[in-house]
Amino acid sequence: MSEKIEKVKCLIIGSGPAGYTAAIYAARANMKPVLYQGTQPGGQLTTTNEVENFPGYPDGITGPEMMIELQKQAERFDTEVRDGWVTKVDFSGDIHKVWVNDTKEIHCDTVIISTGASAMYLGLDSEQKYLKLGGGVSACAVCDGFFYRNQEVVIVGAGDSACEEAHYLSKLCKKVTMLVRRDEFRASKIMAARVQNTENIEILYNTETEEVLGDGQVVTGVRVYNNQTNEKHDIPATGFFVAIGHKPNTDIFKDFLDLDETGYIINVPGTSKTNVEGVFVSGDAADHVYRQAVTAAGTGCMAALDAERWLASKDSAFEVSTSNYN
Ligand code: NDP
Repeated sequence: MSEKIEKVKCLIIGSGPAGYTAAIYAARANMKPVLYQGTQPGGQLTTTNEVENFPGYPDGITGPEMMIELQKQAERFDTEVRDGWVTKVDFSGDIHKVWVNDTKEIHCDTVIISTGASAMYLGLDSEQKYLKLGGGVSACAVCDGFFYRNQEVVIVGAGDSACEEAHYLSKLCKKVTMLVRRDEFRASKIMAARVQNTENIEILYNTETEEVLGDGQVVTGVRVYNNQTNEKHDIPATGFFVAIGHKPNTDIFKDFLDLDETGYIINVPGTSKTNVEGVFVSGDAADHVYRQAVTAAGTGCMAALDAERWLASKDSAFEVSTSNYN
């Protein structure tokens, strides 16, 4: 038998920096937010070791620790943080309906989507092994490049992200080897030219990864093969960066919200509003450009303020609080 329908003023889906920041602001605005953590509590940052670029942590902090701190801060203002996976939504009517784990039905005045995006990986066992160990596999050069200063790294991908990240790494690292699986880039001409003209970036075309090599703890190299000749060779490297795209976690919203061709939610520019009134988006679910913890947190704040104002415009009993503005 299904459970009784619950009514919630503000439901937040997702528990990365966007979701928790939205929760802090929504709670301080008396919106009594309920936050569902999803299958990866803490989001993408929990796969990162050290975070050194989030303001306010002069000595850095690990990704998992930072997410615990954010959760605590959200709970301090009475956010109800729950385990659970939102499996279905119905945004077709005035009431925003959300189902958790296919059974629990919630009717929400406002919904803030902070479901993030997932970096895509090659799926090789050796890649996943060193990713889990935190031993030199990364999908974010801006987050992790600093740890490879003056070292040699390999990056896979040929899109704009790969070019941007390879160029970023080239300023920190001694050498960057870029693996391009076709004989040409997917990236825009200008981005491709930038890496082609950078002295310490070597581009290997028609080249794919066979295995990430390591000593059991950290990456020591990459075994690659030429997909035209089948010739193999090993490249010494301490870091293996994967930049083959991201997939926004937005599948369940596609029947109701406007998404771009890759699946990112389209927001009204300069706001967190979606095409459905009362439904707001924050973080990487709508951002394929910046994808940083601090930008996600910023848009989480925007979503809570937009939701608060929207609620006040619909419900005369609900007043915009002053606590978020001082
Ligand atoms: P893309 O989908 O554009 O590119 C992915 C790249 O990864 C492709 O070159 C693809 O190869 C390669 N790839 C995919 N799977 C594998 C695999 N298994 N092995 C090896 N290579 C693989 O993703 P991006 O993240 O680069 O970009 C996403 C969007 O964001 C794009 O629209 C891009 O223009 C935009 N963007 C814009 C930026 C800017 O303007 N500053 C910066 C970053 C992104 P193949 O080409 O062979 O398919």
